[in-house]
Amino acid sequence: MIHVENLQKNFGDTHVLRGISCEINPQEVICVIGPSGSGKSTFLRCLNGLESIEGGRAEVNGFALQDPKTNINKLRESVGMVFQRFNLFPHMTVMENLMMAPMEVLKLSRRAAQERATALLEKVGLGDKLTAWPNSLSGGQQQRVAIARALAMQPKIMLFDEPTSALDPELVGEVLAVMKTLAQEGMTMIIVTHEMAFAREVSDRVMFIDQGVIQEMGPPEQLFSAPQNPRTAAFLSKVL
Ligand code: ADP
Ligand code: MG
Repeated sequence: MIHVENLQKNFGDTHVLRGISCEINPQEVICVIGPSGSGKSTFLRCLNGLESIEGGRAEVNGFALQDPKTNINKLRESVGMVFQRFNLFPHMTVMENLMMAPMEVLKLSRRAAQERATALLEKVGLGDKLTAWPNSLSGGQQQRVAIARALAMQPKIMLFDEPTSALDPELVGEVLAVMKTLAQEGMTMIIVTHEMAFAREVSDRVMFIDQGVIQEMGPPEQLFSAPQNPRTAAFLSKVL
C-alpha cells in the first residue's frame, strides 16, 4: 500500500529525511517513535503530499509522489490525516464539520453527507453531539470529531501525528480507543506517538526514526524487548 525508497527531504541546509525506505502492507498498523526533531512529522507530511519530496521514490495507494504529473489532491482524498491540534472549523457544528468535504469534494448530497456524518459520530461515541459547537467539547471529544471528519472521506490510509499529545492525560484513553477500533477493523494506519503501551499493544510493526532515517523497524515485542540498534535501546531507556 505504501512503498518508500530512499526518500529525501531538505529544509534549506537541514537534511531532514536522509533516505527513508520502507514497505507498508494493506491493513498494517505502524507506530512511529523517535526523538523530537528526527523527521517523523515531515515523513508523514510527505506521504500525503503536504511536503514535496526531493529525492527517492514514494508510492502511496498507487500515487507516485516523485512524479510531477501525480494529482496530489486525489492522493489526499485517499489519505486521511489527524494532527496533534484538532483544527476543527469553529463556526460549524460538529456534524457540519464532517459534511463539508464529502459534499464539496466527493459531491455527496446533503442528505447522504448527513447520514455518513451521523454514523461516524456514533462510531466515535459522539452520537449526542451532532449539533454541538467544537469549542463546547473537551479536547478528547474534539479529537474524536477530527478522526471522524477524516473518515468521512472514506480514506484508504490514515496518518496520525501525535494525536494525543495535546490532551489532558485523562482524555488520552478515549482517543486511543477509537484508533484501536479502527485498527481492528483493518484500516491501514501510520501513527506517530509517544504512547508506548499503545504502540506495543496495537501496532503490527514499530518504526524507530532517528536523524532522518529508519534506524529499526520490527514487531513491537522485538523492538521494545530486544532492540537490535543501540540508538533504539538508548531512546527506549529514556521513554520507558
Ligand atoms: P519530529 O516530528 O520528529 O519532531 P519534524 O519532522 O517536525 O520532526 O522536524 C524535523 C526537522 O525538520 C527539525 O529540525 C525541524 O526543525 C525541521 N523542520 C520541520 N519542518 C520545517 C519547515 N517547514 N521549515 C524548516 N524546517 C523544518
Ligand atoms: Mg512531529
